Amino acid sequence: MLKSHGYAAYDKTNPLKPFNFERRDVGPGDVQIDILFCGVCHSDIHQVRDEWGGSIYPMVPGHEIVGRVAKIGSAVKKMKVGDLAGVGCMVDSCRTCAMCREGEEQYCENPGPVLTYNALDKSGAPTYGGYSNNIVCDQAFVLKVSPKLNLAAVAPLLCAGITTYSPLRHWGVGEGQRAGVVGLGGLGHMALKFARSFGAHVTQFTTSPGKEEDAKRLGAHEVVLTRDPENLKRIAGSFNFIIDTVSAPHDLNLYLNLLRTNGHMVLVGAPEKPSPVAAFPLIMKRRSLSGSAIGGIRETQEMLDYCAEKNITSDIELTPIQKIDDAYARMLRNDVKYRFVIDMASLKSS
Ligand code: NAP
Ligand code: ZN
Ligand code: ZN
Repeated sequence: MLKSHGYAAYDKTNPLKPFNFERRDVGPGDVQIDILFCGVCHSDIHQVRDEWGGSIYPMVPGHEIVGRVAKIGSAVKKMKVGDLAGVGCMVDSCRTCAMCREGEEQYCENPGPVLTYNALDKSGAPTYGGYSNNIVCDQAFVLKVSPKLNLAAVAPLLCAGITTYSPLRHWGVGEGQRAGVVGLGGLGHMALKFARSFGAHVTQFTTSPGKEEDAKRLGAHEVVLTRDPENLKRIAGSFNFIIDTVSAPHDLNLYLNLLRTNGHMVLVGAPEKPSPVAAFPLIMKRRSLSGSAIGGIRETQEMLDYCAEKNITSDIELTPIQKIDDAYARMLRNDVKYRFVIDMASLKSS
């Protein structure tokens, strides 16, 4: 077994603490990565605090993993020792169902993808995520990372990046369209960068007046402060597409009313409590509402390659792992600019 060291949540209320554990030895198709950076996603907080139910402790969170390949199995062709590599939200899936065969492993129907942490792998062992010094992952779920970009700022692409890239591509957001992004956090700032890069006219919706200038710098043509609902009424019926990245319950109907006829709104934010949706805003303009989960491995690689070509990364704040609870507290106050990334070099001193 491979000895690993990281930080874990031992229950849903106490701060994360150091944790020693073991991972499987590198098998023929496996890649062992020494983790250099790991992004901090709001899903980590939801799961650490058991807001979605069913959390498994001790839990090593983290699914925005980048590092260097330390060892490969005998059958590994796509990587070599010393390469940069990434692991996102999934480490396995059935690989035989219709969705897996289409490269949409995030929607695996048999019974679902094996998540990078807070899950059980096919052998029944718990999976442990990226708040740790290393990871072993099947090559099919390991992504290639370009050395052209700042590695720490690439980490958030593995979840925040693909979760926003995938629905924008799926619904063909681009030139000639008005797109809205609700919430300017980790996912929101990536949605803004991608929507702008794809050529859409982009409006950022935020509850935080202090983020207005940043939103413009990150690519917004306009910024709308949503604490005053009058600001939303003025622009009713004008958007082709809205992506909602908000992590807490909020009024979805306010945003549905902003869509034009046939307009579409996609939820990627995953609050712990449901929000009521009124029928009339949907009926009267044949608007539609959907959700979207991360993205498949093929599309994640496409997104990473797109980012390398267009020089797109996340705006990050590096944090030592010892300060992870401060990072969580700031995210819960909407004080994130715009993704915390753990510098795994700090683990050595813990
Ligand atoms: P984050 O960095 O904490 O950003 C969330 C943003 O939502 C905040 O910065 C804030 O933006 C806004 N917000 C928070 N509370 C609000 C409230 N009560 N009313 C209105 N706006 C509020 O979180 P994240 O990492 O981007 O994750 C966002 C959500 O997406 C989480 O629920 C996460 O679990 C989910 N997620 C889903 C997927 C998927 O596959 N679908 C993948 C990753 C994450 P402003 O300050 O601009 O208002
Ligand atoms: Zn995530
Ligand atoms: Zn499957």
